[in-house]
Amino acid sequence: MAVTMNLTRRGLLAAGAPLLLAPAAFADSRTPTDLLEAAPFPLGVASGDPDAEGFVIWTRLALDPLALDGQGGLTDAIPVRWMIAEDEAMRSVVLSDEVTAIPPSAHCVNVEVKGLRPDRPYWYRFEALGRHSPIGRARTAPSPDAAAGQFRVGMASCSHWEVGYFSAYRHMAEQSSDLNLLLGDYIYEYSYRGDRAAGRPRRHDRQDDALDLAGYRNRYALYKTDPDLQALHASAPCVVTWDDHEVQNDYGADLSQNVSEDPGFRARRLAAYQAFFEHMPVRRSCLNDPWRLYRRLHWGRLAQIDVLDGRQYRSPAACSTERSRRARMVGGDCLERLQPHRSMLGLAQEDWLYSGLGQAEARWNLIAQDLLMASLRQPGRDGVVGHWTDGWDGYPATRDRLLSALQASAAANPVILGGDIHSYWTTDLKADFRDPESATVATEFVTGSVTSDPPPYEPFAAMLPENPHVRFFESRAHGFVALDIRPDRLEARLHAISDRMRPDATLSTLKTFVVEDGPPGAVET
Ligand code: FE
Ligand code: CA
Repeated sequence: MAVTMNLTRRGLLAAGAPLLLAPAAFADSRTPTDLLEAAPFPLGVASGDPDAEGFVIWTRLALDPLALDGQGGLTDAIPVRWMIAEDEAMRSVVLSDEVTAIPPSAHCVNVEVKGLRPDRPYWYRFEALGRHSPIGRARTAPSPDAAAGQFRVGMASCSHWEVGYFSAYRHMAEQSSDLNLLLGDYIYEYSYRGDRAAGRPRRHDRQDDALDLAGYRNRYALYKTDPDLQALHASAPCVVTWDDHEVQNDYGADLSQNVSEDPGFRARRLAAYQAFFEHMPVRRSCLNDPWRLYRRLHWGRLAQIDVLDGRQYRSPAACSTERSRRARMVGGDCLERLQPHRSMLGLAQEDWLYSGLGQAEARWNLIAQDLLMASLRQPGRDGVVGHWTDGWDGYPATRDRLLSALQASAAANPVILGGDIHSYWTTDLKADFRDPESATVATEFVTGSVTSDPPPYEPFAAMLPENPHVRFFESRAHGFVALDIRPDRLEARLHAISDRMRPDATLSTLKTFVVEDGPPGAVET
């Protein structure tokens, strides 16, 4: 078969060698030989979007995962068997079937597994070309009416390959989470060059920016060769949304950050979206739209998770210049920012979100999205208060509508979860951010980056007196946040790794906050 010939032609496996290898034990970084030995599963496995009956399982077949044409070194359609077992050793298989991995989707496999029992762990793997994939662990959600006891959730964002190792993902994998929220900037489309690349521990495989389907596929494949990221995906289902770098820095809807790039940007975005959905374990059948990402998950009666798409439908950046829509600070003279018809989410997503708030009568209502939601009054050069146009401060009307909808709804214990800003934030989301005495509507936790370059600490720390709703800020660390949710309280542990430059970084806890069932607001413990 053509595929086997490809393997042997490279001379890295003897012709006719038995194709049943144990899942490879991976070193800190993988050589081409490691990747070939892991073939056809060099990108590991993943699961996602659990409900009470099942979850999505994912893999991508490849012999040469970083092939420049984005086809992974494969040309033929290849049958893939998947199986789900009740035990870690895959002895008691409860479901199994075959699908075909095909070139148009880069041999990505996305199976929506149904018919499982609620609230229990399962293990899964794939088999293709006579080899087994690594085994992944997933779990089903409790049934919708179950008064679930506890729920452990990890959350992370912003893993730029070039600036560090993914130790945060490795430690996150060890948390025994029920699911992990990946809140965007899972890949970075740009590459550091010249001076900005100096001193960086890793390079992108392609030292250019991802601009087309082959480029984005290459980027996802590179990131997914990372052993720590593979360990995270194999440890628990993930629930993902995107931010800007899955396409391009600061893009919004179908507009590039650079006005000059508008021609062709729709095609670029389409390529990026295609590669995202190929490589991420998103449950697509219920979304009724090939590019829809916002969706709702439930964890019994304990939690509802609304997953938002903050990028695809947003109004153009406020007060952009003739050439650039890049995020920037604007002052009170930018009236466009305040226009009520502008939306961060698009009106259809806003309607969907508000009409579903509180419907499931969940004890905790989590809104998982990409950005810091709290307003930040940032003193500019002349002491004038400024607002950052790319984040929620660029779309205050949407934030007002969302917080009003939360107040008006029966949604108990709203908690907003975000990323993007490469720093940890714990905030009180206020009915009116200009009035510290106004009601706290929701609690917010924003995770620091897995690796991405943080903002400078001092200038942000200096803003805190102007922003009394901020309970915690830290940008001098990288890591993730772990949430332990029970009916009576949510505990958030802000975890930090010792050094993003070291593949063996250790883990510590920066801070722990508790939110009690009842009035919103996190309290440090
Ligand atoms: Fe980022
Ligand atoms: Ca971002």
